[in-house]
Amino acid sequence: MSKAIKKNTIQLKFDSARVYEPAIESKSAAKIKPVYDLFINGKFEKPLSKKYFNTINPASEEILSSVAMAGKADVNKAVLAARNAYERTWKKMPAAERAKYIYRIARMIQEKAREFAIIETLDGGKPIRESRDFDVPTAANHFFYYAGWADKLEYAFPNRKAMPLGVAGQIIPWNFPLLMAAWKIAPALATGNTVVLKPAETTPLTALKLAEIIQEADLPPGVVNIITGAGDTGANIVNHADINKIAFTGSTAVGKIIQRAIAGTNKKATLELGGKAANIIFDDAPLDQAVEGIINGIFFNQGHVCCAGSRLYVQESVYEQVIQKLKDRMETLIVGNPMDKNTDVGAINSREQLATIQRYIKLGNQEGAEMYQSACALPKKGFFCKPTIFTNVAQSNRIAQEEIFGPVLAIQSFRTDDEVIEKANNTAFGLSAGIWTDKGSKIFNLTSKMRAGVVWANTYNKFDPTSPFGGYKESGYGREGGLHGLFPYVKLV
Ligand code: ADP
Repeated sequence: MSKAIKKNTIQLKFDSARVYEPAIESKSAAKIKPVYDLFINGKFEKPLSKKYFNTINPASEEILSSVAMAGKADVNKAVLAARNAYERTWKKMPAAERAKYIYRIARMIQEKAREFAIIETLDGGKPIRESRDFDVPTAANHFFYYAGWADKLEYAFPNRKAMPLGVAGQIIPWNFPLLMAAWKIAPALATGNTVVLKPAETTPLTALKLAEIIQEADLPPGVVNIITGAGDTGANIVNHADINKIAFTGSTAVGKIIQRAIAGTNKKATLELGGKAANIIFDDAPLDQAVEGIINGIFFNQGHVCCAGSRLYVQESVYEQVIQKLKDRMETLIVGNPMDKNTDVGAINSREQLATIQRYIKLGNQEGAEMYQSACALPKKGFFCKPTIFTNVAQSNRIAQEEIFGPVLAIQSFRTDDEVIEKANNTAFGLSAGIWTDKGSKIFNLTSKMRAGVVWANTYNKFDPTSPFGGYKESGYGREGGLHGLFPYVKLV
């Protein structure tokens, strides 16, 4: 290809990214109530605490709704409702009947998919494309998948009887609000447990929409209770004496608090915590495909993914080439209004999270790494961050060791397989990793030596309800998804 044509192609690529006409999804297709109460025993009830808090749209800072703040007495009420539903109805119901309810919830999520996607994007800031094409369909798929298991537990656990545990307390974060609710509620119901679920304080709205569906689906009252609140509400769930199982997804810091709180009790727990995933590009990899995977792994979704590929290791011989490709592709990313169907990188979830990310960006510069940010302009209102990469990073740098949870990538080079395995594993976390190479033997060698729960090869961030997910080391323990995801909700006799 001549130099002139080459230049032209790149130019075209940049331009086409910038000239898309806005294609804004309509807010009017979603119904958000001005006030939400607590969903307890099949009804929306005013909180005994009498307190409410606002949830905002992080892309515009507008208030979306006022949401109840569950106090200790509210948590007690929700747990009691779940206990009564467990003892009187749910554990006695034939499994095939339970399955019908779960299946019904799945169908209803599909029916209201557009509304769910809009609310998820308004409340959380992620691009509508992500909510629409990933979060909502995958949430429905989880309910479908576990509906299938409900009456087949004898095949999941041959020659054993799988008994439910009782009441599950489930606490979820703000990065995949509806999907995390589905990950937690679906296997709990399929195995005969009842649920008290708390969404994160910045993203309660899709869980509350799910509560409306659960009510419409006629699930027996108390089988699923959805209560909103902040850390104190979560702590009250964790410490409640009548909870049999805790399922938590969130930060490693809170995971440690929970682990301490339940030590010495009979409560079972699964903890899905932070991550600092390494993406590794070998010189024999299809580089354009690999760069696209890296971009997807850290910039789409604003890096708000526990398994975000926030570290990149590039083999020395293709290092310069990959960095250039990465920078070129970064320039084409569309950052801005999450409701625009063209947007690749939406809003950071909260002011606090943006401040954390900015602190790390400052730190990366202080640590001596070299920063490159895409040239895009950011919206004036709302919480936004430019896609950012750091090169000249040392393994010991905090930006290479700590979870940032934002669109920030720390890049290093490597020469040999052993070196990169050592570097990739040299972290307190172990949730996920990615390998890009043409050689199957290299994939097998690395996957067997990487201390990470999921290792993707020549792809990244791919999820399926049939595959287990979970971490090593400070990324937590227990698995969610797939057959493995049934284990934490049963005792085998
Ligand atoms: P993130 O950094 O992803 O927000 P957090 O761990 O702070 O992660 O929050 C995840 C979930 O845990 C949220 O629903 C939050 O309200 C809840 N939470 C925060 N502190 C506690 C706590 N001490 N005990 C139980 N839940 C908590």
